[in-house]
Amino acid sequence: MKPSHIEHIGIAVKNLEEAIKYYEHILGLKCYAIEEVKDQKVKTAFFKVGQTKIELLESTDPEGPIGKFIEKKGEGIHHIAFAVDNIENALKKAELKGVQLIDKAPRKGAEGLNIAFLHPKSTFGVLTELCEEGNIRDF
Ligand code: ZN
Repeated sequence: MKPSHIEHIGIAVKNLEEAIKYYEHILGLKCYAIEEVKDQKVKTAFFKVGQTKIELLESTDPEGPIGKFIEKKGEGIHHIAFAVDNIENALKKAELKGVQLIDKAPRKGAEGLNIAFLHPKSTFGVLTELCEEGNIRDF
């Protein structure tokens, strides 16, 4: 696998609205989408910085993955997502090389992208998301 770029950086926040204010008023970025991903129990907000996005994640349930993350580690960087052109292939290759997968098969993430996570135990502590670049929307 050879990622083309960092698709996005996922950041866990306690309060999406407060965090959006920082990104808009201090960094001068524009939130272009807010989306709830029900099976992940999160509400997400997106910003674009060049080719890379910032994905803010607020938990909608304290028992969800982001809720638990914040409880253990506090707010901060949650994952890094790499853009790959064939996610099934990338997953298979990673598994063959001994990487522990969280998702054995790709699933739908925010923005309708195909995504899958690699386990941080196999990635030196960084929860790693692979993201298949489908139809890239231009903002
Ligand atoms: Zn993500």
